[in-house]
Amino acid sequence: MNEAFIGLGSNLNTPMEQLQQAITQLEQHAEITKVTLSEFYSSKPVGPQDQPDYVNAVAIITTSLAPIPLLDALQAIENSQHRVRERHWGPRTLDLDLLKYNNDKIDMDRLTVPHPFMLERGFVIKPMADLVPEMLLHNGCTVTEQLSSLDTSDLISL
Ligand code: ATP
Ligand code: MG
Ligand code: MG
Repeated sequence: MNEAFIGLGSNLNTPMEQLQQAITQLEQHAEITKVTLSEFYSSKPVGPQDQPDYVNAVAIITTSLAPIPLLDALQAIENSQHRVRERHWGPRTLDLDLLKYNNDKIDMDRLTVPHPFMLERGFVIKPMADLVPEMLLHNGCTVTEQLSSLDTSDLISL
């Protein structure tokens, strides 16, 4: 069994419901046995600012899926919730990013793990701190230490 961290985000079509529905889909997946969810947070968009605020959360899952099949499963869930890819970092009904997969380092065309921007994103590190504050990240810091280095003033606990 493998442990993976999934970053969830939405800023369209009732974001809280999008996240709840995505969690249900993860829980119902035959090859995902356990889903542990952080708190939900509101955050300001990354990139273009002319879009609604996001709702973000992180889930830890236990899965028998290898990384690429897991990415396929995440993208199938995104698509099932009508994600449309328009501009880069534009608004979306659902974003499911594979943040971490065991302690693996993966550098493929379709998949980079750990997620290349996770350490600098408060909307990822804050929910991770809810779940595993003492866990070591790939830069050698604990999640709590990493959180203290970030500006999280845009985050609102929901
Ligand atoms: P960001 O990656 O900065 O959060 P994004 O989530 O908006 O941006 P997407 O449009 O969701 O980006 O994904 C673009 C591509 O990123 C996907 O087609 C996927 O193949 C690739 N990708 C690479 N690494 C990962 C990862 N760790 N998790 C999810 N997608 C990834
Ligand atoms: Mg993303
Ligand atoms: Mg994504």
